[in-house]
Amino acid sequence: MGPTLNGLVKLQSIENRLGAVKAKLTRYRRNVIIQENQLRSLQNALEAKKEEIQLTKLQSDRLELDLRSRDEEIAKYRASLNLAKTNKEYSAILTQMNTSKADNSKLENQVLDLMKDIEADETECAEIKSKIEEQKTKVENTRTQSQSAATKLEADIEEIQKEWDQAAKDISAEALNIFKRVAETYDGEALSTADEDENRGSYSCGGCFMNITAETVNLLMSKDDIIRCPNCARILILSTSSE
Ligand SMILES: [Zn+2]
Repeated sequence: MGPTLNGLVKLQSIENRLGAVKAKLTRYRRNVIIQENQLRSLQNALEAKKEEIQLTKLQSDRLELDLRSRDEEIAKYRASLNLAKTNKEYSAILTQMNTSKADNSKLENQVLDLMKDIEADETECAEIKSKIEEQKTKVENTRTQSQSAATKLEADIEEIQKEWDQAAKDISAEALNIFKRVAETYDGEALSTADEDENRGSYSCGGCFMNITAETVNLLMSKDDIIRCPNCARILILSTSSE
C-alpha cells in the first residue's frame, strides 16, 4: 500500500480509539440517566401509593358515616322495643333491629378490611421511601463517578482528536471526505479489508462479506487508489496476510 492507503489505515486506527473513548463517555452518561430514571419511577410509585391510600381512606370514611347512622337507627329500635305494646309489634321491631345489626357488622368488616389495606399500603410506602433514599445515594455516586470519568475521557478525546487532525493532514481533501462520509455511515468503520478465502482462492469484503473480483484485488495490490467495495462502499485495503 502507498501513502494514501497507509495514511487512511493510520487514520482509521486513530478513529477507532476515538470511537472507543467516545462510546465509553456515552456509557457513563447513560448510566446516570438510567439511575435517574429509576429514581423517578420509584417517586412515581410512591405518589401512586399515597393516592391509593387517600382513596381508601375516603371510602372508609364513607362507610364509617354509614355505620354511625345505623348505630343511631339501632338505638332508636332499642328504645321503641321498650315501648312496644304487643308481642307482634315487639318481634317486628326486633327483626328490623337485627337486620340493621347484621348490616352493621358487615360494614364493620368492610371498614376493617380497608384499614388492613391502608396499613399494607403504608408499609409499602415506607419500603418505597427507603428505596428512594438508597436510589438517591446511588444517583449521586453515579453522577460523581461519571463526572470524574468524563473529565478524564474528555481530555483523552481532545488528545486523540489532535492526533486525528495531525494524521488527516497527510491525506488529500478528497480522500478525507470519502473517509468521513463512510465512517459516518458505518459507525466509524470507513475501511474494510479484502479478505482472501483460502479454500476458494477468492476475496470478499471484510465489512459486508460480499465477493470482490480478482481485478479489484489486483488494483489494490498495484495502485494506491481509493477503491470502494461495490456493495457496502467501504474503502478497501489489503489485509496484512495478503500484503
Ligand atoms: Zn463491503
